[in-house]
Amino acid sequence: MNYSMMDRIIEHLVNSDNVLIASHINQDGDAIGSLLAIGLALNFINKKTFLFNESPIPAVYRFLPGVELVEHQIDDLHTFDTAVILDCGNLERIGKSAKAVSKIPVLINIDHHATNTGYGTCLFIDIAACSTAEIVYRIIKKMNIPISKAIATSIYTAILTDTGSFRASNTNRSAFAICEKMIDCGADPYEIAQNVYGKYSLGRIRLLNLALESIEISKNAKLSMMTITRDIIDKTGTRSEDIDGLISYAKRIKGIKVAVLIQEEKNSLKKTNGLKNFHVSLRSDGTIDVTEIALSFGGGGHFSAAGFNIETTLDKLRAIVMGFSEKI
Ligand code: AMP
Ligand code: MN
Ligand code: MN
Repeated sequence: MNYSMMDRIIEHLVNSDNVLIASHINQDGDAIGSLLAIGLALNFINKKTFLFNESPIPAVYRFLPGVELVEHQIDDLHTFDTAVILDCGNLERIGKSAKAVSKIPVLINIDHHATNTGYGTCLFIDIAACSTAEIVYRIIKKMNIPISKAIATSIYTAILTDTGSFRASNTNRSAFAICEKMIDCGADPYEIAQNVYGKYSLGRIRLLNLALESIEISKNAKLSMMTITRDIIDKTGTRSEDIDGLISYAKRIKGIKVAVLIQEEKNSLKKTNGLKNFHVSLRSDGTIDVTEIALSFGGGGHFSAAGFNIETTLDKLRAIVMGFSEKI
């Protein structure tokens, strides 16, 4: 653990007056959980904070205490002396405000992505951390800020989801140790699990059905590909956030080394040339480094879980994805 970096971050936070705290677009449990945890902790020591995420809060995370504090638009960026960027491998991941945010005098980059570009004036990157929330927890603890039930619930939710319910390869000792402490501080495992995984809309279950039907396997049987078009989303009355977790079904097939999920993006307006915007998620069984593929398309992530965005046609993309199987 990098104590000196931790001390520097704490010093900056203690000396700050007005802190912007942001995490990545299309937030997952770690992005929203880390944001709320550090936001609520800084509020406790009477810091002026602005919690920001460009995307709406996914329905499954709206139960989190303090979620109403999260803003989706920044009106005046000049007022912030400090920014804390969470769970973002590159600054552009926060969305449209990235360029303006890069001008905030103190820019603290807290992350666990292997592909972190090292942006910011003060960095805390730990790729061995199971989640950004693990690093946030260590900072809050070092600052001696008491962990309220709200903070505990955020951190527990972030670790639960970022480890794929303690099944992904980033599940480490700290994941369990911190979650145990969060339960001591008031986090309720059953209540959290029910909110995150136990209250799906019927549409989401129907989406699962169509997503499973879309699975194709490469000729060498090492790669699986799941495709979710806007048509499938519209037909099931779901939203992009309902796609979260579906790739795990493509990944858990015996013999599959790399699972790929192609997702047609909402903003994928039909252009005259027929190009569309896609998000591509990659998962490996732990033997293949999928960041290599993600980075080659301008994306990023972790060894076994990465992603990228691309503008192309669906046919071309499907051919590109199937082509990945030739290297495994
Ligand atoms: P996903 O498959 O989209 O859920 O993302 C898997 C991992 O890759 C997450 O840790 C993301 O933060 C990261 N990731 C996904 N898309 C991108 C991207 N366009 N740029 C950088 N990192 C990404
Ligand atoms: Mn994330
Ligand atoms: Mn994360």
